[in-house]
Amino acid sequence: MPLTAADNPQRTEKLLRAAKILERMEPQLRQEIDRLRTQYGKGPHLRILYFGNHPPAILFKNAQLEVARRLHIEAGDRSCDWDHDGPDQVKQIITQWNQDAHVHGIFVHQPLPPQLDAQDISMLIDPQKDVEGIHPQNSARRFFARARIGSCTALAVMELIDEALRRSGDTLEGKEAVVVGHSEIVGRPVGMLLLDRLATTTVCHVATKRLEEHVRRADVLVVAVGKPRFIKGAWIKQGAVVIDVGINMVGGKVVGDVDFDAARERAGYLTPVPGGVGPVTVMMVMKNTVEAFKLQHGAA
Ligand code: NAP
Repeated sequence: MPLTAADNPQRTEKLLRAAKILERMEPQLRQEIDRLRTQYGKGPHLRILYFGNHPPAILFKNAQLEVARRLHIEAGDRSCDWDHDGPDQVKQIITQWNQDAHVHGIFVHQPLPPQLDAQDISMLIDPQKDVEGIHPQNSARRFFARARIGSCTALAVMELIDEALRRSGDTLEGKEAVVVGHSEIVGRPVGMLLLDRLATTTVCHVATKRLEEHVRRADVLVVAVGKPRFIKGAWIKQGAVVIDVGINMVGGKVVGDVDFDAARERAGYLTPVPGGVGPVTVMMVMKNTVEAFKLQHGAA
């Protein structure tokens, strides 16, 4: 019978829990927001748009509103109708927020209804207010390592990798990093950030041959595919840092893209799902909102 965490407390130390990271980040960010409010007589303001009744999007936007409240960021949400609201309605809302000097950050939740194109929507947002960090202008700046606003999920992944490196006293330089998934919002930006840190980086995708072989040599493995338990525990290199971005519903439970129980036997550090990448991503949206406020006020 496999050991439980309670049987073997050493195994729980391997877990890269969001709570530990947020304990450090939250007071620092709140302090900065309070300082900005004193300096400018106002603080950051975030607006969130979501569509229909998609439960994960509603959970995510409620978490954003709650974290914003704790950080003293003003935040408001607005819903659109899944069936009836089209590009014109969405453009009108985003244009209004773009032009409103009191709004510093805009976040549009996925999934979008079929009548809307995700790239078209992301391009409507003023790049200085794009707190998801996926506007092409922000992606291009990232390419030259000059982005002040980055993909919130990719930044969360890097924060979790850095937590593992802090604990082990190691560095990313020269490590074999493997990213599974090459989406614009997760896989590609994570690949770029790993390259910036001089990890030898491989990005795998649906046409990758012998995926298992790539995974087996990863010192750092990031998985963002959206398929439950897609990466088998036996593929994980002994001692690897494993960051599981996936969020999948299986039998009413949320599970990641990595077979967690088996991976736990081999990984050096591993993110749980839930409680790993997700809450750190929410915090990175807040950090981007603060950065957006500073950009719009010409602050360094
Ligand atoms: P996505 O846009 O659907 O991208 C999935 C990626 O996986 C694509 O690049 C796809 O390649 C690749 N893929 C599919 N099948 C594959 C296979 N057999 N082998 C290798 N690669 C394969 O999804 P996403 O937005 O990147 O999100 C991925 C997962 O992360 C989802 O579960 C999502 O819910 C979750 N997520 C979590 C957070 C968070 O904060 N925790 C944030 C964002 C997303 P092709 O395009 O070539 O098919």
